[in-house]
Amino acid sequence: MSSGVGWIEVICGPMFSGKSEELIRRLRRAQIARKRVQVFKPVIDDRYSKAEIVSHSDLRLNAEVVTDAADILKKMDWRTQVVGIDEPNFLADGLVNVAQQLADSGKQVIIAGLDTDYMGRPFSPIPDLLCVAESITKMLAICMRCGNPAKHTQRLVETEDLIVVGAAGMYEARCRRCFEAGLPKQEVLEFARPQAQSRPRVAKAGS
Ligand code: ADP
Ligand code: ZN
Repeated sequence: MSSGVGWIEVICGPMFSGKSEELIRRLRRAQIARKRVQVFKPVIDDRYSKAEIVSHSDLRLNAEVVTDAADILKKMDWRTQVVGIDEPNFLADGLVNVAQQLADSGKQVIIAGLDTDYMGRPFSPIPDLLCVAESITKMLAICMRCGNPAKHTQRLVETEDLIVVGAAGMYEARCRRCFEAGLPKQEVLEFARPQAQSRPRVAKAGS
């Protein structure tokens, strides 16, 4: 695209599908091209580091922490050419408008986030962002049950909260066939047993 024209790129898919790796790759390439880059992540996502995007494979990129979508505009250096945003599901309210404003003002906006939640439902704000984006990349992980391409994030802990911050042991990637919306009943039973607290056994009764 010619310089001065903004656009929105969305990288979506389940956990472990390589969204953060792909975001970091694109942002690094922009830095190599000597573009002015700003990277944002929500304050709630402090699993690894408060000031870095970190992939499950431990790629890292410095980021600024924001409390909400409007905070991105407050922290924006208007000379910035490329804006990266990780974990947008924590910034649902207002992020579509913010991304549109940034793209309308000529910036390349790259957003990487979950497209579905632990129940397999569309996960805000990705569905709306897909409608306004110029570029969409859907990533797939590997199903931890059968090895097929996986589009689902399987929750392995017992809670109905929409967002539970966590990583290995709390979630795993599953394909369409192996995914069970929410927590499989067998796993709830396993969790009730003291010896199964660290890592739930995922075998279903009869399998
Ligand atoms: P995301 O941002 O989508 O959660 P990351 O970019 O943080 O994903 O991590 C992707 C990396 O996670 C892969 O390159 C691989 O090293 C690792 N990984 C762990 N479990 C899986 C899985 N089930 N499928 C694919 N990659 C996995
Ligand atoms: Zn599977």
